[in-house]
Amino acid sequence: MCECDGPVTELFGSNVFNDSVMRERLPKDVYKSLKETISGNQPLDHSIANVIANTMKNWAIEKGATHYCHWFQPMTGSTAEKHDSFISPTSEGVTMMEFSGKELCQGEPDASSFPSGGLRVTFEARGYTAWDCTSPVFVKEDGKNIALYIPSAFCSYNGEALDKKTPMLRSMDALNKQGIRVLRALGNESSQHVQATLGPEQEYFLIDRSFYEKRLDLVLTGRTLFGAASPRGQEMDDHYFGTLHERVASYMHEVNTELWKLGVSAKTQHNEVAPAQYELAPVFTTVNVATDHNQLTMEMLQKVATRHGFVCLLHEKPFAGVNGSGKHNNWSMVTDDGINLLNPGQTPHENMVFLVMLCSVVRAVDKYANLLRASVANAGNEHRLGANEAPPAIVSIFLGDQLTDIFGQLAAGGAKTSKQGGELKLGISTLPPLPKDCTDRNRTSPFAFTGNRFEFRMVGSTQSTSGPTFVLNTIVADVLSEIADELEKAEDVKTCAQGILKRIATEHTRVVYNGDNYIEEWVQEAKKRGLPNIRSTVDSLKTIMDEENVHVFEKQNVLTKAELAARSEVLLEAYSMIINIEAQTMLNIAKRQILPAVATYSARLGNAVREVSSAGVDADTQVAMLKKVCSLMKSLQGGIEALEKTVAKAGKMGDTTRQAEDYKDNVIPAMQAVRESADELETIVDADIWPLPTYAEMLFLK
Ligand code: ADP
Ligand code: MG
Repeated sequence: MCECDGPVTELFGSNVFNDSVMRERLPKDVYKSLKETISGNQPLDHSIANVIANTMKNWAIEKGATHYCHWFQPMTGSTAEKHDSFISPTSEGVTMMEFSGKELCQGEPDASSFPSGGLRVTFEARGYTAWDCTSPVFVKEDGKNIALYIPSAFCSYNGEALDKKTPMLRSMDALNKQGIRVLRALGNESSQHVQATLGPEQEYFLIDRSFYEKRLDLVLTGRTLFGAASPRGQEMDDHYFGTLHERVASYMHEVNTELWKLGVSAKTQHNEVAPAQYELAPVFTTVNVATDHNQLTMEMLQKVATRHGFVCLLHEKPFAGVNGSGKHNNWSMVTDDGINLLNPGQTPHENMVFLVMLCSVVRAVDKYANLLRASVANAGNEHRLGANEAPPAIVSIFLGDQLTDIFGQLAAGGAKTSKQGGELKLGISTLPPLPKDCTDRNRTSPFAFTGNRFEFRMVGSTQSTSGPTFVLNTIVADVLSEIADELEKAEDVKTCAQGILKRIATEHTRVVYNGDNYIEEWVQEAKKRGLPNIRSTVDSLKTIMDEENVHVFEKQNVLTKAELAARSEVLLEAYSMIINIEAQTMLNIAKRQILPAVATYSARLGNAVREVSSAGVDADTQVAMLKKVCSLMKSLQGGIEALEKTVAKAGKMGDTTRQAEDYKDNVIPAMQAVRESADELETIVDADIWPLPTYAEMLFLK
C-alpha cells in the first residue's frame, strides 16, 4: 500500500511543522512565545530561535530530510529555493546534523540574478531572506531529495522588498490595523485581529505529454502559437462538470494526496468549460498561507502530471478559440474571534459592521479600479481580459438583488429592509423544498459578491495570488482608515456611520453592475458611467505609478515609491521578454517546421500535376490546390520577414515602456499575420506531413 492510500486524516498535514507538532515538540514557554509572534503580538525572541531550529531539524530528519532551504517568491511570480544540507563535519572526520536559529531566521542568497526593477545594481549582489513564521515550514519530497522548506520574505541589502511576500505581509498589517480601528469605533471591544482570507480556485489544462513534446511553442511559451480551430470545441457545453475521465481522476487523486501531505486543503475538483480544462479549489485560509499554498498547488499540478504522462498547462490562454484559464480569488476579512466581516446575516440592513465593510470594499474597488486592473496585467492575461472573453477589462461589482436594493436604500438615506429569498418549489413531492438564496449568481462579473465574500475573477491562472491580494488588502485598508478617522471623531457614531454609508452608496453606484458583462451594451454603458476600460496590459501597467497609487501604497506602508516603481519596471520588462520569446519561437517553428512541410507538400502537388497531365487527364483540381498552397506559402514567408524586422526593431528599443508598447503595437500584429497564414495552411496540407499535433488531438485525445 503506498503512503497515499492511508486515511486522509493521518495524511493531512503529515509533512507540516504545524501547530500541533509545535505544541507537542517545543518546550512550553518557547511554544507560547512563538505563538505570540505568529499572532503578530511580539517580535521573535531570538534567544528561542536555536531551540525552534533544532526541534524543526529533528522533526525533518525523522521524515528523511537531509537539507533545508529558505523558500521565497521573487518578482518572477514563481518560487525560489537554495538547498543547504544539515551536515556539519567535525575534525574527527565524521559529521553532525546541525541547524541553527540564525540559519532558520535569515538567509543570504545572491540577489543579483533576480528581477529587481533597478532597486539594486548587479555588483550589489547581497540580498536577505527572512523566515515568515506565519506560514508553517514543511518537508517536501522531490524524488529522493527531501528537504525542510522555510517560507521566507526576500529583500535587498537595503531592506527593499524584492518579492511577493513582503508587500503581502505589510498589507495584512495595514488591513489589520485599520480594520480593528473601525471595529472599535463601531463598538466591537472583543476582536483583537482582522485578517484577510483567500480561497483561490485554480484552472488548468491537461494534455498528453506526447503532444507537448512535439510543440516547441508549448515547451517554451506555455501556449500554442499556431493551431487551426478544432472542428469541435466547447460549443456542446458538455465538458463543464462532466464525468471525470478515469486517467484524469487518478491524476487528481494523486495531486490531492500530495497537497494534503503539505497541509494544502484541496477540496473541490471538476471539469471546466473548455475541453481538457479542469479546476481545483482549496478551503480558504489567511491570504499569506493561501498564497504559499497556491504556489505549491501550481507546482504539484505540474509535477504530478509528468508522472501520469500528462502535461499541465497553467497558461492563461494555451489554446485560441476556447476558454482560457484564470484564478478566482475568493476574498474576505475575518476577526480572530471568528466574525466574517462580509457575512451579511439574515437582515443585512441592520448589520452596521457588514454594511461598513461592504461599502469600504465597493469604494476601494471603484476608487482604485486601475490599480486592481494592473494587478492582473500580464502578457498571458491579455488574451482574456478585453479580448471578448471572461471576464472583461472593465472593473465592476456584482452585488446581487438584495444588496443592490440595500445599497439604493443607503443612498436614499438609510436601509430599512432586506429582501428575503424564500423557498423553491420544484413541484415534485419526493424532492426536498430548497431554500432560495436572496441573490442569484453572476458568472460574468469581474468582482462578484458571492454570499459572504467577494470573488475577484480577473486573476490569471499563472499569476501569484499575492499581487492582486495585497492590492485589495491595501486599498480596502486605506478606505477603512478614512472611515476610522471620521468615526473616531464623531459625537454620534451611528449617525456618522450612516452619513458615510450614504455618501459611499451615492458616489459609487456607478461601479455596481449586476447584468451580463460580456455584451457590447455594457461597454457603452460603462463608458457613460466613466468606468475605465483598459484592454491592454501595457496601458494598464502604465497606470501603476499614477499619483493616487503611489500615495495609497506609501500611506499604508506597503510599498515605497521606489519599490512600486521597481515593480512596474519588472512587469513591463517581463511583458516585452515574453512577447519576444513568443515571437522568436514562432519564427523558429514557422521557418524550421511549417515552411519545410509546406514545401514538401507543394512539391508533391507539383508532381501530381505533372503526372496526371502526362497521363492525358485534366489536372485542374491539382493545379488549383497547388496555387492555393503556394499563395499561402508566399504570405507566410512575407509574414515571417515582416515579423523578423519588427522583432529586431523592438529588441533595440532602450526605454522600457516604449519597448513594451512596440511589442504590443507592432510585434503582436506581425505575429497574428504569421499565424493566420499558417493556420489556414494547416487546414489544407496533408495531415501526414503537418509537423504539429492539432487542436483536436491535444484537446480531445487522452
Ligand atoms: P464556485 O462555486 O464559486 O466555483 P468553489 O467551491 O469552486 O466555488 O470555490 C469557492 C472558494 O471560495 C473556495 O476556495 C472556498 O474555500 C472559498 N471561500 C469560501 N468562503 C470564503 C471566505 N470567507 N473567504 C475567502 N474564501 C472563501
Ligand atoms: Mg469553482
